[in-house]
Amino acid sequence: MTPEEKKRRKFMQQMSGLGVLGLVAAAGIVGGPYLKPKELRLRPPGAVDEDEFLGLCIKCGQCLQVCPYDSILLEDIDGKAGVGMAYIEPRERGCYLCEAFPCILACPSGALDHEHDSIEYVHMGIALVHDPDGCLAKVGKPVPDSGIDRIYDHTKVLTAAERREKRVQISPNDPEKVQLQKELLLKLEKHRGQESCTICADMCPYHPDHTLAIGMVAAEGGGMLPEIREACNGCGACVELCPVDVIKIIPRKSYADIYKEGGESNV
Ligand code: SF4
Ligand code: SF4
Ligand code: SF4
Repeated sequence: MTPEEKKRRKFMQQMSGLGVLGLVAAAGIVGGPYLKPKELRLRPPGAVDEDEFLGLCIKCGQCLQVCPYDSILLEDIDGKAGVGMAYIEPRERGCYLCEAFPCILACPSGALDHEHDSIEYVHMGIALVHDPDGCLAKVGKPVPDSGIDRIYDHTKVLTAAERREKRVQISPNDPEKVQLQKELLLKLEKHRGQESCTICADMCPYHPDHTLAIGMVAAEGGGMLPEIREACNGCGACVELCPVDVIKIIPRKSYADIYKEGGESNV
């Protein structure tokens, strides 16, 4: 065997000894796209465990048809897991935790568990302030008009004039769905130009007491910051409404996972 052949054989032995993971590591892609853990979607309230959900959701769209806030979407052809499965994109529209959870009651397949149709059982995920230094309350900047205006594009129930003029008025003839979405905008409007933003804390729909889920507290180094609390169930309303996009939802994680055990904190 020539020295060149010996060298090649040694190389082949080393590589086979590494196994598949070793080969991947040698190629420098550990942690790269091939081994990246599956990104979890935020599922509607009452969703059973993700693997079970993917097997049970029959893509019928019943949950989204009854949602008065148009919070639920069906994954399109580019969906990351399961075309047609129900999910929520919180930056586009969060869930507003309806009292009777019509989405859960409408689900015919068990993908949204009917035994979880009240707020104490709904656990979609947990909010995390991922960029506290960008929070308007922390840096002392007022709420910009653009932060309020963008929410008018998140609803389908407005007339073209209401959307253009950023002005809504509730009429007694409005159907309940229209009223609810207009009430949301009217409540948000009270924060337009607010000196120290409190949108996430004030607009959190957790009931009966949203201060169990979120509250504004003094931040280290000055200013204020939202503090995510134990009852937060990851509905994503704060993510949708934050004018500067500094909150995100970690689907299917709990308060204990993030703030107690993991040590990741926002204040
Ligand atoms: S609880 Fe209400 S707002 Fe939330 S997804 Fe269900 S129907 Fe929509
Ligand atoms: S803090 Fe409130 S609005 Fe934000 S995800 Fe939690 S329950 Fe929903
Ligand atoms: S909504 Fe909350 S997180 Fe966003 S800027 Fe206002 S106070 Fe800060």
